Amino acid sequence: MTVSFSDLGLAQTLLSALTTEGYTTPTPIQVATIPHLLKGRDVLGIAQTGTGKTAAFALPILQRIATEPRRLVPRSARALILTPTRELAAQISTGFATYGRNIRFKRALVFGGVGQMPQVKSLINGTDVLIATPGRLLDLMNQGHVRLDFVEMLVLDEADRMLDMGFIHDVKRIADRLPKERQTLLFSATMPDSVTSLAAGLLKNPERVEITPTSTTVERIDQKVMFVTRENKRGLLAHVLKDRAVTRAIVFTRTKHGADRVAEQLEKSGVSAQAIHGNKTQTARQKALESFRNGNIRALVATDIAARGIDIDGISHVINFELPNEPESYVHRIGRTARAGADGIALSFCDAEEVGYLKTIERTIRQSIPSHDDHAFHAVAIADMRHSTRPKPAQKRQGQAARHRNGGGKPAQPKSNSSRNTPRHAQAKRQQKG
Ligand code: AMP
Repeated sequence: MTVSFSDLGLAQTLLSALTTEGYTTPTPIQVATIPHLLKGRDVLGIAQTGTGKTAAFALPILQRIATEPRRLVPRSARALILTPTRELAAQISTGFATYGRNIRFKRALVFGGVGQMPQVKSLINGTDVLIATPGRLLDLMNQGHVRLDFVEMLVLDEADRMLDMGFIHDVKRIADRLPKERQTLLFSATMPDSVTSLAAGLLKNPERVEITPTSTTVERIDQKVMFVTRENKRGLLAHVLKDRAVTRAIVFTRTKHGADRVAEQLEKSGVSAQAIHGNKTQTARQKALESFRNGNIRALVATDIAARGIDIDGISHVINFELPNEPESYVHRIGRTARAGADGIALSFCDAEEVGYLKTIERTIRQSIPSHDDHAFHAVAIADMRHSTRPKPAQKRQGQAARHRNGGGKPAQPKSNSSRNTPRHAQAKRQQKG
């Protein structure tokens, strides 16, 4: 039986906002979370962006604000949502506005990188919902512009990323100033020990709700790995982007510098592209996102942190120019192409040094990522190699691994049928030793 939004116990004002928004059925995380939150329970939710988790926490908060109206206390908030990045904060704020369009409530948004005056002003008379990144919130608290002793509901969104970004002490300091009597919700895509211990300190007897990546986002995405030497990655990217089927692509790099270089290179090869990362100003980031959203640029080159929480529909391809060293980042990255129930394609460029990362990723997502060999590209790349001086050892090994996996070329006679004898495994072993 399909569960509807009204089965979850939501008020008519919220139901009609959802209808206006075109939502017909709740997502699994919404079905699993909303009833507990409406009962006032604490919830520990394991789910990534793209699963509909914003509505899962925003709807019950809005319902409580609507059904238990309170006079606002100056400089305070009834609900506090902590989130790692400004983009995500802005997106959550828009979510509250959308879902709460038929409710009278105030919301305020607080994040760093911009002047604090407008934010301070928005808090003077108090607010119902405060959405904040930890650093700026703590700054404003320390200056006496915000008090947290009236917070009834706390949400920690993307807790794993918040800790990855080094916000653990800020989050703890903020938590120390909150009333003990409150409802708490923690959402995280992954549950490393650091998040488990944070949750243990903040949540009271929580309901645990898990939407595993393998059963949702990850399974719907067509994932491929392309083996390529480091030197040939830029050429391969330009080649992949020649395909007009790639209508809107996010390209991930590991470093900010790398993002800039890749974007420049793409522009040179005639593909409209821009980079976003932590060193860009807020205005530059917003501008790049806007151009990407309205289709003025085809490729957005991003680092993991900058891409966090970006909600852009219709991303046809996620391209991992470099594989992330944390498998969770891989899941976050490819999730960009499966927004709002759509399917997408994720291509990962893997060089000899990254085979170890690939193996860890495959273990985490509990599936092996098939390889994709682009013969047209390799013909060009191999011709290039012939003209260059002797290939480096890594290049040589790389070529062997790719040929073997793809069954192309002339693979050496395998000594046994065991898949553990593939060059890829041998290579990974060598790497682990080194
Ligand atoms: P989130 O995981 O909260 O970032 O949501 C991912 C996307 O799914 C957003 O674009 C939402 O607007 C959309 N969304 C959330 N809930 C639903 C729903 N029940 N039906 C359709 N789309 C939804």
